[in-house]
Amino acid sequence: MDIEVAKKVTGLINATESFGAVDGPGVRFVVFVQGCRMRCKYCHNPDTWAMKNDKAETRTAADVLEEARRYQGFWGSEGGITVSGGEALLQIDFVTALFTLCHDLGIHTTLDTAGQPYKTDPYVTEHIDELLAVTDLVLLDIKEINPERHKELTANKNDNILEFAQYLSDKGIAMWIRHVLVPGESDFDEDLIELGKFVKTLKNVLKFEILPYHTMGEFKWRELGWKYQLAGVKPPTSVRVRNAKVLMETESYQDYLERIR
Ligand code: SF4
Repeated sequence: MDIEVAKKVTGLINATESFGAVDGPGVRFVVFVQGCRMRCKYCHNPDTWAMKNDKAETRTAADVLEEARRYQGFWGSEGGITVSGGEALLQIDFVTALFTLCHDLGIHTTLDTAGQPYKTDPYVTEHIDELLAVTDLVLLDIKEINPERHKELTANKNDNILEFAQYLSDKGIAMWIRHVLVPGESDFDEDLIELGKFVKTLKNVLKFEILPYHTMGEFKWRELGWKYQLAGVKPPTSVRVRNAKVLMETESYQDYLERIR
């Protein structure tokens, strides 16, 4: 994308965070865009779901970059800019524009996505390569490897998401894979083993993280007047988190069953 064109591309921005510490390497400026088609039961940003939101702001890529660069002194050699959401891919033109401007200045770019629009949204699928050409790292959430449980947890299928992971692998894009561990929803031994096996088939996975479910977003559901779908579900115990990390390294579910027999 031409730099002068990129400067003027707009996105609908829900919020920004000046000092993100968990959304990619180093200290990062994080941009949360509006809009998501997943319906994760544990979502801590349900206010980003709607494609329109009176509290969100339409801003140009140049304007967002200017705000981000106020904090550039804190980024060190590893940090940079992350676009998250909502679902960042739903505003692919804005993200491509912002990342194009970043690359022009040597700023590290990270895309935080659940991959849902890939192969379900023709516009995103058509323009994904242009975005990936200016993306240094993708943080890809795999909510569940089991298709039925994925659907139950997110109201969406996961075959296109797994295909997206494979596509990133084939293209040599660096990835962090993340899995939120939710008791009763995404903490099943057999699925964790399958997830581990799948991730091992991918190239360029720099990190594979288990993120323990937390309830910090629950208040946002209340503010929206919605019933929180995981009311009463507690974060996983440290034993279950450790179990998940071990299982993801296990060769097969059959080996595992034999080992614990
Ligand atoms: S993909 Fe992210 S923003 Fe969308 S519903 Fe799930 S957790 Fe929320």
